[in-house]
Amino acid sequence: MTTAHDVVIVGGGGAGLRAAIAIAEEHPGLDVAIVSKVYPMRSHTVSAEGGAAGVIGADDSVDEHAYDTVSGSDWLADQDAVELFVHEAPRELLRLEHWGCPWSREPDGRIAVRSFGGMKKKRTWFAADKTGFHLLHTLFQTSLKYPAVHRHDEWFATKLLVDDGRVQGLVAIELATGRIETVTAKAVILATGGCGRVFPFTTNAAIKTGDGMALAYRAGAALKDMEFVQYHPTGLPFTGILITEAARAEGGWLLNADGYRYLQDYDLGKPEPTPVLRSMELGPRDRLSQAFVHEVEKGRAIDTPYGPVVNLDLRHLGPKLIDTKIPFVRELCRKYQNVDPATDLVQVRPVVHYMMGGVHTDLDGATSVRGLFAAGEVACVSINGANRLGSNSLPELLVFGARAGRTAAEYATTTPGPTRAGLAQADDEHRRIWRELRRREAGTERISAIREEMQHTMEGSAGIYRSGDSLTKAVDTLRGLQDRMRLVTLEDRSQTFNTELPAFLELSAMLDVAEAIVQSALCREESRGAHQRTDFPARDDDRFLAHSLARRAADGSCEIDYLPVTIRRWPAGERVYGR
Ligand SMILES: Cc1cc2nc3c(=O)[nH]c(=O)nc-3n(C[C@H](O)[C@H](O)[C@H](O)COP(=O)(O)OP(=O)(O)OC[C@H]3O[C@@H](n4cnc5c(N)ncnc54)[C@H](O)[C@@H]3O)c2cc1C
Repeated sequence: MTTAHDVVIVGGGGAGLRAAIAIAEEHPGLDVAIVSKVYPMRSHTVSAEGGAAGVIGADDSVDEHAYDTVSGSDWLADQDAVELFVHEAPRELLRLEHWGCPWSREPDGRIAVRSFGGMKKKRTWFAADKTGFHLLHTLFQTSLKYPAVHRHDEWFATKLLVDDGRVQGLVAIELATGRIETVTAKAVILATGGCGRVFPFTTNAAIKTGDGMALAYRAGAALKDMEFVQYHPTGLPFTGILITEAARAEGGWLLNADGYRYLQDYDLGKPEPTPVLRSMELGPRDRLSQAFVHEVEKGRAIDTPYGPVVNLDLRHLGPKLIDTKIPFVRELCRKYQNVDPATDLVQVRPVVHYMMGGVHTDLDGATSVRGLFAAGEVACVSINGANRLGSNSLPELLVFGARAGRTAAEYATTTPGPTRAGLAQADDEHRRIWRELRRREAGTERISAIREEMQHTMEGSAGIYRSGDSLTKAVDTLRGLQDRMRLVTLEDRSQTFNTELPAFLELSAMLDVAEAIVQSALCREESRGAHQRTDFPARDDDRFLAHSLARRAADGSCEIDYLPVTIRRWPAGERVYGR
């Protein structure tokens, strides 16, 4: 079947819904559709806990927010993007308030803000520790007001249609029926979120498999800064469930096996000998995760069946503060770890959390392929550079989701419909799914085995520390896994909610994304932010003050080149914390 819209947004999370609202508000005559593989309220945005950064305090300024973001990014963020972002973020957060978002407040009625890692002033707005839930709900209910916004819930996008040098729509599977749909559009916005599932231990929902990054990459768009994968220092062992940074912002401590606040031994901030006590647990995520690895090496971590851990101590905060400011932390610890943070230590370890890299876009969300836009975690604008500051991504998806929506809508008003060749591509994709996947004869490989090997390869080679040797081996392993995908058998041939087919498609997307991560990491012969090479331990601004761009070559391999970073007001310097 064929469905036609002016603009199609892939993804019903924060970025996708914000884009849809922007289009409906400013171009009410356009027909917009959201294609989402899960019901929008189940998108990963719902699980954001800690908050959203935007300058509001009288003692704060957008310049300070910009500087914290730039230095936190280890100078890899584009400063024009950051400046635009810090100016627009507070307006977006206020707009959300007007749409009904219940921001937590001070007793006198002002918006409450909390500290967050790497931010030197309190500027993180929050709705208790369920910020993502309230933010997504607000956007979802607002989107329902607009009749021009259509939704295709539980449709899985498999391919972008590209002809005449422009994107013309996509093919999707309606999961409830197995029907394959052609969705034509003059512009497509990718808002598909991140790819944490490429790694074995992650805070990311099972749906975060990098589909949009792979769709863009296969359509000829570049993936930017893919080597920068953020580990969050405090995940629950085994499940990987996130214990929000808000727990440390409210005063939580990290203790090693000896009960010692080990972060005081690490130079999380310079210059020496400034005591780092003030930043300590609120140092940037990359540095905290790296400090954990050193504690393990020194034998000062605690061994568990799920690997080494340290303890998060919230006991001194008392039950009252925990219940008011971080009630969800208490709920998660009780339910999933069987401990009560008001009286017990909570075991934690670093966990893959966020993808700094993504589809290369300009400030309006436009990619290098005409008619294709991207916003949210799938995109790389870039404001996050080599290390994202916590609480910058919720405002990022609002600011750049809205911008991508407006630009895509503008573009759609002057663009013709699909070409014959574009539609023919859709027919080819229908046949590929039917014949190659559903009717596949017995093979010898299983999805789960390939997925597990990919995830362990990524953890071993592209984790908190990397080396040229392990990355080179990973390139070969991933190639081998790509070959083995051809031998996978899909045993489930049913039409209704066939979960095996999406699992296969997600795995092939993850393999493309994994290759881009590993190749980008291999080529970047320096250490910066979340990318730490044991064989190149220093930052090298002469060679690598540049964004990596990964493109798919004609032979299917991944090629890397570089784009200079936009530096405006802040020349590359040292990252300074704790003052
Ligand atoms: C546990 C957790 C806590 C976090 N806490 C914070 C926080 O406190 N503050 C902060 O700033 N950031 C936080 N983050 C990061 C932030 O929440 C995410 O980066 C952001 O919400 C991503 O939003 P998004 O709209 O880009 O994508 P998502 O919300 O992930 O939505 C992706 C959408 O794409 C759709 N999709 C994907 N693939 C396909 C496909 N093939 N076909 C159709 N649809 C598809 C999905 O159905 C979904 O609707 C947190 C992240 C996690 C994991």
